[in-house]
Amino acid sequence: MSTLQSLSDDRPVRAEAVVDLAAIRHNVATLRARADRAQLMTVVKADGYGHGMIPVARAAREAGADWIGAAVLEEALALREAGDTGPIFCWLTTPGEPLSDAIAAGIDLSAGAPWEIDELAAGVTDRPARVHLKIDTGMSRGGAVPEEWPALIRAAVREQQSGRIEVRGIWSHLSSSDEPKSPANEAQLATFQEAIEVAESFGIDAEFKHLANSGATLALPETHFDLVRPGVATYGLSPFGHALPSAELGLRPAMTLKARLAMVKRVPAGAGVSYGLTWTAPRPSTLGLIPLGYGDGLPRHASNAAPVLFGGHRRTVVGRICMDQCMVNLEDDEAAAGDEVVLFGPGTNGEPTADDWADAAGTINYEIVTRLGARIPRRYMDSER
Ligand SMILES: *Cc1c(COP(=O)(O)O)cnc(C)c1O
Repeated sequence: MSTLQSLSDDRPVRAEAVVDLAAIRHNVATLRARADRAQLMTVVKADGYGHGMIPVARAAREAGADWIGAAVLEEALALREAGDTGPIFCWLTTPGEPLSDAIAAGIDLSAGAPWEIDELAAGVTDRPARVHLKIDTGMSRGGAVPEEWPALIRAAVREQQSGRIEVRGIWSHLSSSDEPKSPANEAQLATFQEAIEVAESFGIDAEFKHLANSGATLALPETHFDLVRPGVATYGLSPFGHALPSAELGLRPAMTLKARLAMVKRVPAGAGVSYGLTWTAPRPSTLGLIPLGYGDGLPRHASNAAPVLFGGHRRTVVGRICMDQCMVNLEDDEAAAGDEVVLFGPGTNGEPTADDWADAAGTINYEIVTRLGARIPRRYMDSER
């Protein structure tokens, strides 16, 4: 089949996730335009939501990302090691982590409790720690609850006066921006504004106030402040799922997950398929073996439900998804081992999307791309170069 050529430029591969860096650049530019009075932080945590952290960060910088956002210290330090010299923000550390490495590398860090200020101050060698103070505005995850906010501010003022820290930001995170009309957004915004006023009353005037993730960057302009932090939209996926698909947001999904069939067989009516024989062929059927399973990050919950594209037709995964493989019902299609199957992609050529897989598994598009494991090679292409 001619599609064999499209799977890989040179050598045949079992499976691959192809990432279009032009789509990443397009999405970053789109997000910049949506929040044009604020700076833009592209969030690349969890290996760039499964797309590959370093190539995504490079493409994002090219398209004008002012900041790169990482969840954990290893990610932030790896970005510096890869040569990224721009502003990097990292917000999730635990006691005893090597903060001094991050401070020396000029990485902006978060503090949500006075003891975190103490740890940061203790990690300082030659330059002050750059700190963003986190207020918990209602999500009850990281950050200081409003009752403890003044104590955090006092600790920050003390260490700023000692010269060991520099307060650069005040920030928080929204629980419900995927539902822009939820009253939770307004409530969190109000709490955020109060926290800023309290900080100002203590003499803290932070340059970067930031609150907006993808949903808020796209739908809640009043949350943009000085900096927005979109993650999932960078990859062309909608934070709103099917309610507002990425095409309507002007975003282009960057990843296509493909595989070659490892085997094709004809089975008679009544044949049971995969562990537990949860699917039985209702009539003579052609089955294709896809060499990907939950060991690669496919969700087992999508057994008997996930869609794929084969030879221009939508087909369905039948039977349980195994660790390394799963079966697709090719009905009466002409098929041979080695033929290409597309699990998901932008959806522009009839293939399913990460949202379709999310529906099949009862999850969100974020999880579909982020869970893809290291066993799947990422291949980078550029549809515009
Ligand atoms: C993951 C994350 C983001 C990005 O969220 P998206 O919904 O993917 O845009 C922004 N800020 C913080 C603190 C995060 O953890």
